[in-house]
Amino acid sequence: MTAKIIDGKTVAAELRARIASEVARLKSAHGVTPGLAVVLVGADPASEVYVRNKSKAVTEAGMNPVDRHLPATVSEVELLALIAQLNADPKVNGILVQLPLPKHIDAQKVIHAIASEKDVDGFHPLNVGRHASGSPGLVPCTPLGCVILAKTVKPSLEGLDAVVIGRSNIVGKPVAQLLLSENATVTIAHSKTRDLAAVCRRADVLIAAIGRPEFVRGDWIKPGAIVIDVGINRVTGEGGKSKIVGDVAYAEASRVAGAITPVPGGVGPMTIACLLLNTLRATCEHNNLPAPSL
Ligand code: NDP
Repeated sequence: MTAKIIDGKTVAAELRARIASEVARLKSAHGVTPGLAVVLVGADPASEVYVRNKSKAVTEAGMNPVDRHLPATVSEVELLALIAQLNADPKVNGILVQLPLPKHIDAQKVIHAIASEKDVDGFHPLNVGRHASGSPGLVPCTPLGCVILAKTVKPSLEGLDAVVIGRSNIVGKPVAQLLLSENATVTIAHSKTRDLAAVCRRADVLIAAIGRPEFVRGDWIKPGAIVIDVGINRVTGEGGKSKIVGDVAYAEASRVAGAITPVPGGVGPMTIACLLLNTLRATCEHNNLPAPSL
């Protein structure tokens, strides 16, 4: 058996195209253009690349990018003042603060300062609480992307056994919550889980969000399972060249799984597409327009 490859690049491109046409419709029918503010503090090279890619995607979707780059020396008070200004700006529908922040700034405090209706990362405690209690709110982008990808294989996840490895606030917990709202039976595994391999073997849907290269082996996978690999790990490959691998041993797993996301080209591209989706949803909400069904 060879697993179907879940092509995140294609799924993300299709979603972005649907978002762009919805943005064009919003503009022509209501004169509204979604605006996304991306705040970058300092000059971390990886963060700069992420921010550049986000701004490019925002522009391509027909939205307004509002980029704010601050020096690494900016004080917490100054950053909070910028957030307050963006919260009050009617042209800004979404606010994203690129993490990590310099050590002298309390990231929690900054996330809490973002107006929850503009919190397109879905990290604000109000959105976390809304999600947990089944109320509408903004949901974190990477977890949303994982579930969209799983549903390209099986449109209904109802009744399936889902195992999530990882319990971070950014990926593990919200993806488990989303799977629960899809009526899957969800297990959250972590570093203290006993016999992780046996737990994984029960999974019809396995989500790996660990941050350890090729940690999940082929014989941990239930035959036919849907495997979503969130991991992004830089390792040294053949000839000393650096390359990116996921949390799942792809070659082994793809001989057993029914469908699997590659790394790169799986979950990664979905994160930006879901950021655009959240910005579009927030814009509709701010303008009392019905949320688009994408
Ligand atoms: P964290 O380090 O915050 O969380 C890792 C989780 O994995 C923890 O819950 C930890 O358990 C668990 N874990 C660690 N070691 C083991 C082990 N030996 N057995 C079982 N569980 C273990 O990472 P993130 O959630 O932020 O990210 C996870 C991965 O996803 C990373 O590779 C990251 O780069 C990637 N990522 C990719 C994104 C994308 O867009 N594709 C976006 C965000 C992240 P415990 O809680 O017990 O310590």
